[in-house]
Amino acid sequence: MTKVAADFLEQADEKAFDLAHRKTISFNIGRYDAAVARGLAKFENLEGSKRKAHVIKWKVIENLDKFLPEFEANFLKRGGKVIWANDAAEAQKEILAIMQRAQAKTVIKSKSMTTEEIHLNEFLEKHGIESLESDLGEYIVQLLGQKPYHIVTPAMHLSKEEIAKLFHEKFQTPIDATPEQLTQKARELLREKYLRADVGITGGNFLIADTGSVALTENEGNARLCTTFPKIHIAIVGIEKIIPSIADLDLYWPLLASHGTGQNLTVYNTLLSGPRGPHESDGPEEMYVVLLDNGRTNLLAQKEQRQALNCIRCGACLNACPVYKNIGGHTYNTTYSGPIGSIITPHFKGMKEFKHLSYASSLCGKCSEVCPVKIDIHQMLLLNRRDAAAEHQNPKAEEIGWKLWKKGMLKRSWMDAVGGKFKNFLLQKFFKKAWGKYREMPQVAPKSFAKQWEEQKKTKLE
Ligand code: SF4
Repeated sequence: MTKVAADFLEQADEKAFDLAHRKTISFNIGRYDAAVARGLAKFENLEGSKRKAHVIKWKVIENLDKFLPEFEANFLKRGGKVIWANDAAEAQKEILAIMQRAQAKTVIKSKSMTTEEIHLNEFLEKHGIESLESDLGEYIVQLLGQKPYHIVTPAMHLSKEEIAKLFHEKFQTPIDATPEQLTQKARELLREKYLRADVGITGGNFLIADTGSVALTENEGNARLCTTFPKIHIAIVGIEKIIPSIADLDLYWPLLASHGTGQNLTVYNTLLSGPRGPHESDGPEEMYVVLLDNGRTNLLAQKEQRQALNCIRCGACLNACPVYKNIGGHTYNTTYSGPIGSIITPHFKGMKEFKHLSYASSLCGKCSEVCPVKIDIHQMLLLNRRDAAAEHQNPKAEEIGWKLWKKGMLKRSWMDAVGGKFKNFLLQKFFKKAWGKYREMPQVAPKSFAKQWEEQKKTKLE
């Protein structure tokens, strides 16, 4: 077992019995569930919308070589600049080069999982550049020195009392401050930063091929401030985020909002198609889009699993997953956690290190059921397990064990060659650890069913 897998198991064990964690998550996901039920009720034909969203994304992912250049050409026409980054190191290098050219010292960021993926904050800080999160949830986890717990709600694991305590310690707000008072404090602290920041960095929820635009979706208005005040705006977006046309947003925006937070539409939806024009008063002087691969083409090469690239990062599968709800987002130790993280991470970061995530599932299928773009998530988990086995990524002992098991199961004489006592000994010896300390090992009957049947038949004949 790799160290990553061993750490995962240890932390999962710990978190699953952390009752305070469970209470906070149950409360927050309970509120989410109620909001989503209301949001989904607004669709006249939800199933039809999901199917359409799946088909459009399928078409895009099968034709990335057409849609990405179309986006690039249209964005360039409006004065934007496009950078293609194969991996995190290339993206970091290019972003740093832009900063150094502009002698930038401060960055203000809006929530973006791609920047988490390339560890941008840590990288910039190493180069003496201050990088501040402006999304309230991200700001809170940044103050705590943590990573986002969830792809949509980064501070989902914290109660309002814990956040009040954090603000009390950091900014001397009352220990029993209300969420409104805390938000007001964060606003006071951040407003000044927007005005002073040299560069604004965002992700992008969608890239629109036919207009060459980046679509941003948010609830706090902070992404608008990040892209309006600083002189330079950099959007870092995964190559799979592309959709063919601006007309497709009337499908994807409501699907994302309803599945992400239960809203009909997220509060702020912004389309950015390049830097400030000659007759415009707002907006950056320069705008860059970093098109990030970072393992996505590895997944694209997998014919059966590439539908995982359809993901619009709504987070619904995380909230639905019984494993995620018990072990929490940080336990995965990956940028993308929960069911979607479990299927894409082995392709993004390596099957050998992350194949254990394919087993972090009860295979109940709830994730596939809630997905707005109809990704067959639990089937992808099985395909990843199959691939890991085919590539001989599992330990040798496990491979031999399964081979022997298969042989035995297919041959009656092998099954009957040893009695229940010996079978129980084998189970205890080789499977006890994998079975886990919280479950009792099943007991094999002293005589097999076939033997008992035979004996019964004989007695009847006598
Ligand atoms: S896999 Fe589906 S449900 Fe999960 S985050 Fe992506 S779009 Fe949402």
